[in-house]
Order: sequence, then C-alpha cells, then structure tokens
Amino acid sequence: MKYDRSYNFSAGPAMMPEAVLEEIRDEMLNYRGSGMCVMEMSHRSAVFQTIVDEAEQDLRDLMQIPDNYKVLFIQGGATLQFSMIPMNLMRNGKAVYIESGAWSKKAVAEAKKVGEVTVISSKDRNYSYIPDCSDLDIPEDTDYVYICENETIHGTTWQKLPNTKGHVLVSDQSSMFLSRPCNVSDYGLIYAGVQKNVGPAGMVVVIIREDLIRDDLENLPVYMQYKTHADAASMYNTPNCWAIYCCGKVFKYLKSLGGLEAMDKINREKAQVMYDFLDQSKMFHGTVEKEVRSLMNVPFVTDSKELDAQVVAATKAAGYDNLKGHKSVGGLRASIYNAMPKEGVEALVEFLKKFEAENS
Ligand SMILES: *Cc1c(COP(=O)(O)O)cnc(C)c1O
Repeated sequence: MKYDRSYNFSAGPAMMPEAVLEEIRDEMLNYRGSGMCVMEMSHRSAVFQTIVDEAEQDLRDLMQIPDNYKVLFIQGGATLQFSMIPMNLMRNGKAVYIESGAWSKKAVAEAKKVGEVTVISSKDRNYSYIPDCSDLDIPEDTDYVYICENETIHGTTWQKLPNTKGHVLVSDQSSMFLSRPCNVSDYGLIYAGVQKNVGPAGMVVVIIREDLIRDDLENLPVYMQYKTHADAASMYNTPNCWAIYCCGKVFKYLKSLGGLEAMDKINREKAQVMYDFLDQSKMFHGTVEKEVRSLMNVPFVTDSKELDAQVVAATKAAGYDNLKGHKSVGGLRASIYNAMPKEGVEALVEFLKKFEAENS
C-alpha cells in the first residue's frame, strides 16, 4: 500500500479513507488561510462554525435526515449513551432491550440503574443469532425498544428491524453507521460512536426526534440532558473540534462516492469475498448464523486456539493488522468498515487460502 500502510482490520479506532487523511495532512499547518490548524482554532470562531455547520448538513444529506430530528455531536463516546438514553427517555421507567451481544449487554446494565428493563437475549448460544422480534409482547407503557444494530464483537447485524408495535425504537449503530441506507423515520433515536466507521475516537453522533427531547429534567446533570446539546447546537461547551472536522471530511467523501447506496454495494461485495472464502474453507469457520452475518465485523475461528494464535501471528507478520478476535468469541475477527478497500479483503483471503493449503 501507498505510504507503507498496513491493511488494518481493527474493530476501532479503525481505518479512515486515505484521500481524507491526505486532505487533513495538507490542511494541517494552515487551514484554508486561517493561519492555524483546526486543533488550534477557537470553537467560537466563524471558521470553525462553518466546519460544524457543513458537517451537520452533509450528514443530513447522506442520511436524508428529516427536519424534525436533531443531529448532536456529543463527547463521552457511545458508552455515555448507555446512560443518557434511559435517563432522558424513560418517562414511565420502562424499556425493552434486545440483548444480542456484548454492546447491548453493557447498555442493559446501565439502563437497569435507571428503570425497569425487560431483556430479550440471545446469550444462550453466545449471541450467534438475533432473537425473533416480529411479535414481541411489549407492555403499553414501555418507553422504548432498544437494539444494537450491529454487534461489533459477536458479528451480527439486524436485517429487519424489530416490530416495536408503535413504540420508540432506539438503535446503537456505532459499527455500521453510514454503511448502508437508513430510514431515519423508523427510529426515535440513533447513535454512533464515530471511531468505528467514520473518524477519530472521542465523539458520538446522536440523531434524535425532537419530541423526545425533554425540558422537565432539571434534576439531571446539565451535560446529561439532550436538551442542553440540542439548544446549544452541540456547542454547550468545547466540543471535540478535531473529530467534528475529520468526520465532516468523511461525510463529504462518502457523498462524492455516491452516498450510502454506493457504500452498501461496495460493502456487500467486500463481505461476500470474506464469507465466500469462509463457507468453502475446511480450516476456518464463521461463528454466527448466516442470515444475520455482519457486513462490517467478521469473526471466524479454526478448530484450535493454538492454530488461531498461529494465524494471527502470521497475518500480522504479513502486514494484516489487528485480526485477533475479541476474547469472548476467540479466534479472529476482520473488521471491514467503509474505509477498508476491497483489495485489502482480497489480499487477506489470498493469504488465508495459502496458509490453509500450507498447514493442512
Ligand atoms: C465500540 C462500541 C461502543 C463503545 O464505544 P465508545 O465510543 O468506546 O464508548 C458501543 N457500541 C458499539 C456497537 C460499539 O461497537
């Protein structure tokens, strides 16, 4: 690869588009005649305001976000949302959580500190499937139904959203944000930590329907209220200026590629290369049910831990980085987000094929 970069299969922080990194490099010392780097710039300056405004508008264009939704850039990563969501959205103190993997499990634990949580889980088979949510028994006074739309660690993705029976749907899209078209009106709240599929770490994008933003939460710490961030247009305090700037560049880049439909097509082709290989391999096996396989995170294993470790070491030595699987699944995991080029996946598959031929 150019610049001697690795194909980086990290689950996050993860690869960013090379063209975006080059632009950032070129603007590093003096951003468009401002005389300074974006890192050095006042967040109250007109130059920076343009950066935020454009980032929000480009995201709105990409996702076709309706006018009755706010777009918020908040710090604290996706993890802070595990708490902010129940603190802001539980009016009756009740929610239904679909626990389909490690990230929704963490969200459940935080929600339980705030209210009564009904959990529907796929833990019985180590989260290798997504529970059937076509006809859930949802009490009338439930405040929302929560899903993690792509489980980064377990490698599952929702193909069809749950039937919430008219209740608000909340989705953690961290590891699939902007990977495919998304009908925002199907949700009350969407959020995504940006370091998986967009930009640098330390920021979450929250897309929230306006009627869910409450003004009767005076006792909640001010920073924990969506209202604070909405009223101040993400500028209540110093935001993560650098992440906003970098994400804004990625939004423009995705638009230039043809938007989310184009990304979806590329992502399907890329994942197909990986899954076609796994489906015919005698050494490597995918770990989740076929219908819910993630296009972003592909966990796979051999039949032995020793061999898994050997493969991880061999891939690393060959320039394929961060393929070690999460400890709860074991084996390997290839995260193939938007910025991973198809050639990277093809090269990895060639390498694994050769490894299999030489070691069986
Ligand atoms: C990584 C991840 C998180 C946590 O993100 P942080 O920004 O580190 O808090 C939450 N949900 C999902 C699905 C993730 O992949």
